[in-house]
Amino acid sequence: MIKNIAFVAHDARKVELTDWVRKNARLMMDNVLFCTGTTGRLIGEALKDELGDEAPVVNRLLSGPLGGDAQIGAMIAEGKIDMLIFFCDNLIVQGHQSDIQGLVRLASLYNIPFATNASTADFLFRSGLFKDPEYEHQLPRCIERYRTRKLEDGV
Ligand code: PGA
Repeated sequence: MIKNIAFVAHDARKVELTDWVRKNARLMMDNVLFCTGTTGRLIGEALKDELGDEAPVVNRLLSGPLGGDAQIGAMIAEGKIDMLIFFCDNLIVQGHQSDIQGLVRLASLYNIPFATNASTADFLFRSGLFKDPEYEHQLPRCIERYRTRKLEDGV
């Protein structure tokens, strides 16, 4: 099931994400959220405004440029994040661009549903699978193969 959702927005898209979160607040009342630092502060305030005491828990990690994207990437690799909503700025290169690429790479590798724009986030939240208690995302076979791989010299 989709329980833990990560949210990240770059500065140029924070208002867009906060507006999106306000519109969709009721859909995430049963979720636990994990966010980079500033995104988490803004989302937490928006959810409190919309839902009061029913707002979901928002866990704030480090700010993205200080390692927050890398923390979320590590949580994905550890199976602790079920979905990622990542509104990234596609018009500039960030100082922590390598962490951003790492986060997108890990979301893709571990086959978690992830959106980098509002339309895709709408589809994810309105999918029948979003609230399905039976839904479990599958780890791709390449991960198990990599875990048990042998190197060319047999070790
Ligand atoms: P922030 O980080 O939420 O702390 O601003 C986001 C990012 O730039 O990756």
